[in-house]
Amino acid sequence: MIKSSLEGLFKRTLLIVNPLSISSSSIYQSNKQQQQQQQQQQFKYRYFTSTTMSDNNHFQYLVLGGGSGGVSSARRAAKYGVKTAIVEAGRIGGTCVNVGCVPKKVMWNTANLAEQLHSAPSYGFKGADSIKHDWATIKQSRDAYILRLNTIYQNMLNNSGVTSIRGWGKLVGKNAVEVDGKVYTADHILIATGGRPEIPNVPGANLGLTSDGFFDIGELPETAVIVGAGYIAVELAGILHALGCKTKLVIRHDHFLRTFDDMLSRELMAQMRATGLEIVTDSTISKVEKNDAGKIVVTTNHTALEPVDTLIWAIGREPIVKDIGLEAAGVELDTRGYIKVDDFQNTTTQGVYAIGDVIGHLLLTPVAIQAGRRLAERLFNGKTNLKFDYDTVPTVIFSHPPIGTVGLTEKEAIDKYGKDNVKVYNSSFTNMFYAVNDTYKPKTFMKLIVTGPEEKVLGIHSIGIGSDEMIQGFAVAIKMGATKEDLDNTCAIHPTASEELVLFT
Ligand SMILES: Cc1cc2nc3c(=O)[nH]c(=O)nc-3n(C[C@H](O)[C@H](O)[C@H](O)COP(=O)(O)OP(=O)(O)OC[C@H]3O[C@@H](n4cnc5c(N)ncnc54)[C@H](O)[C@@H]3O)c2cc1C
Repeated sequence: MIKSSLEGLFKRTLLIVNPLSISSSSIYQSNKQQQQQQQQQQFKYRYFTSTTMSDNNHFQYLVLGGGSGGVSSARRAAKYGVKTAIVEAGRIGGTCVNVGCVPKKVMWNTANLAEQLHSAPSYGFKGADSIKHDWATIKQSRDAYILRLNTIYQNMLNNSGVTSIRGWGKLVGKNAVEVDGKVYTADHILIATGGRPEIPNVPGANLGLTSDGFFDIGELPETAVIVGAGYIAVELAGILHALGCKTKLVIRHDHFLRTFDDMLSRELMAQMRATGLEIVTDSTISKVEKNDAGKIVVTTNHTALEPVDTLIWAIGREPIVKDIGLEAAGVELDTRGYIKVDDFQNTTTQGVYAIGDVIGHLLLTPVAIQAGRRLAERLFNGKTNLKFDYDTVPTVIFSHPPIGTVGLTEKEAIDKYGKDNVKVYNSSFTNMFYAVNDTYKPKTFMKLIVTGPEEKVLGIHSIGIGSDEMIQGFAVAIKMGATKEDLDNTCAIHPTASEELVLFT
């Protein structure tokens, strides 16, 4: 099987590296473009010839971890004819596909439907109040979808000519990785091992699930406690609550999402509480027990909480850096315990790189993907200065309502530019979706942060229906250096919520 995929790679590679295969359209290109193209072709040609196909256990690029970052980087390298392998111990696709973004978004969609049903009677639908949700149905469809994605990911790797090695990989030198007793060598090694959920060190902690376990739950619990103040805690609490589970969110300080703009945290807390989700602040968990009725009793530094069916820890994630042989390769960790890298993803060992959650810079799938692809472009396509820009990364929190955010928070902007050089525009309004609702009319809040006389946009933060889908385009504008005037000069789309972002006064 490996042999045939290598043969396939050999054939495809020949096609890619043939320096004569320049399309006829290139005669219209400028001399400079032609020169660049030829240099890149020569680069690929050099690369291909540096390894002989006879050595099956030697690769030009070996990727440890088949998650978002690893798969993307491996495929991009293979595109340039590089002999590439990927080592994966679990299910292909990693956290995002199996126990992260994908199943989470399916559950958020489910919860969103439940939320929208509250407005159905106002829109003239009869009987919406009696609609029941069946958790098992969506779990089954979700699991089947993920299985399909696993297959698609595997096929994409196979079709790209990447060799898949299954098992736990461990560096046994700066050019070697051992999997199940077999040693594979490589010119370049990428560590993309991601992370796993943390469990606190308190008595009875193992009575709780993590976000991984959340996706195994077979039926909606009647009652639940979620512990944590990050976006995963907020999202899971929102899903359970929207579907009818009596949910408590326990946080250590007085507000959650503390790295986000204060407005987002404040308004989300208010809106969650308005719908009946209980947020227990300033509390740490001291112990967890099971009572005689089989319920879980969570005790905080203040009190024992009401017994619940399910406890979920969402207190953070730790990088997978143990038992992967970092010492053998001389790869160092930073002070936070993540793999230390420079701007170009180089670790402290030459020829060994790291990307994604394991380096601890913005734990997001597109960040891992882009960093992985750019690394492959730099190593194997002659783009020697290409690196991922970790600034101005947009993100969405799939809460109820959703949050879209990009750029600096108000506090970060003031710290960086000084209070006198920062101007903040705020807007709040009721989304037209609620116009015909009699009672529940939550508000959307938006904030635009600018600096200097030209009012360069530093940050945009939005909470309310549609914020999840509107922020991507504004992230492009910020990346291009948009000013408030650029937004003013952009014609609004009416009637939408996003038009408010070009109508700030
Ligand atoms: C509940 C949840 C929701 C999330 N939602 C979002 C979201 O909405 N949007 C978003 O952008 N991000 C989201 N994320 C974050 C996102 O999933 C991660 O940032 C992303 O998966 C990181 O990719 P990665 O390649 O670094 O690591 P991973 O995807 O974790 O992949 C690492 C892979 O390496 C494998 N591995 C580890 N060690 C070894 C070894 N020694 N040998 C072989 N294989 C090994 C693991 O099995 C795993 O498959 C979410 C995460 C969680 C937990």
